[in-house]
Amino acid sequence: MKINVLTLFPEMYSPVTTDSILGKANEKGLIEINLINIRDFSEDRHRKVDDTPFGGGCGMLMACQPIFDAMKSIGITDGSKRVLYMSPRGEILSKKLLDSLVKEDEITILAGHYEGVDQRVLDYFNMEEVSIGDYVTTGGELPSMVLIDSLSRFLPGVLGNAESVEDESVYSGLLEADQYTKPKEYMGLTVPEVLTSGNHKEIRKFELMNSLEKTAKKRPDLFRKWVKKTKIDDLTEYTKKERKNLSFFIEKLKEKDR
Ligand code: SAM
Repeated sequence: MKINVLTLFPEMYSPVTTDSILGKANEKGLIEINLINIRDFSEDRHRKVDDTPFGGGCGMLMACQPIFDAMKSIGITDGSKRVLYMSPRGEILSKKLLDSLVKEDEITILAGHYEGVDQRVLDYFNMEEVSIGDYVTTGGELPSMVLIDSLSRFLPGVLGNAESVEDESVYSGLLEADQYTKPKEYMGLTVPEVLTSGNHKEIRKFELMNSLEKTAKKRPDLFRKWVKKTKIDDLTEYTKKERKNLSFFIEKLKEKDR
């Protein structure tokens, strides 16, 4: 997948272009991040890219000309291509949005700065506004890196184990169960015995109950959704008695949720 990023700070992207899993994906050609420095397209003799907003107000806005020309340099001259503008006004980044983006061969992201961007840029290129949450960052660079990182995990070949993508907190419908690694005891702190028992069925049962408990407590919205869509009788890997116990456990969590 090719990802064009229009930014005033291309140097900020080295974590996603050179480091860790994303850097390797970039190296292997699974993902191509094409950084475009908007300032290079400014016609102003001081390479200015911003101006004061009409109607007053504090701060500056990124102006049309450098962005229009930067878009033209990558062949985007109208609103027919998929372009995202990172913005606290946008749709919150979610698995649903990532699922739709992963189908694209090429996407373009505009990282804003200052107080934002002239609205004509967003309207002309039919940009989708995407937010990473209800808070405001200084620029769109970090939000766009969050998008690129979370999106790249769904691209074939980026992660070693294909199953691990969906089997994560939130994506699976629940929060992940507590996890532990060696040693079994550290400074008197122990690991739940079942996890070291080698009994895989008991481990899965522990994980499901632990996940349900965590989700009910921390994300009651997800817990309610899971309960609504899950029929306990369909969990055939458990015996009838275990399913009865599980239903009882869920009823208890539901009571706490009220
Ligand atoms: N004045 C803008 C507003 O109230 O909507 C906020 C501007 S913010 C200081 C500068 C840039 O950071 C934005 O243009 C946007 O690209 C980016 N940004 C800030 N918060 C964001 C968020 N929650 N999600 C995505 N991008 C964000």
